[in-house]
Amino acid sequence: MPTYEYFCENCGYKFEKFHDMTAKPPRKCPKCGGVLKRVIGEGSGIIFKGSGFYETDYKNKSLGSRAHSL
Ligand SMILES: [Zn+2]
Repeated sequence: MPTYEYFCENCGYKFEKFHDMTAKPPRKCPKCGGVLKRVIGEGSGIIFKGSGFYETDYKNKSLGSRAHSL
């Protein structure tokens, strides 16, 4: 099961949740009820470790999408 990381825009609360891709993602912060943002997982790129070129390439990409989501 994939792990999703969520971040509350309102209070800054950050947590991880395991759930199926078909399951409904949490929309509200369990602490304050604020709007949750999904954080792009950092673990998914680990497979490419060892290839410096590829890793750099991936990092740039992931940084881009991360900035986009926040
Ligand atoms: Zn919150």
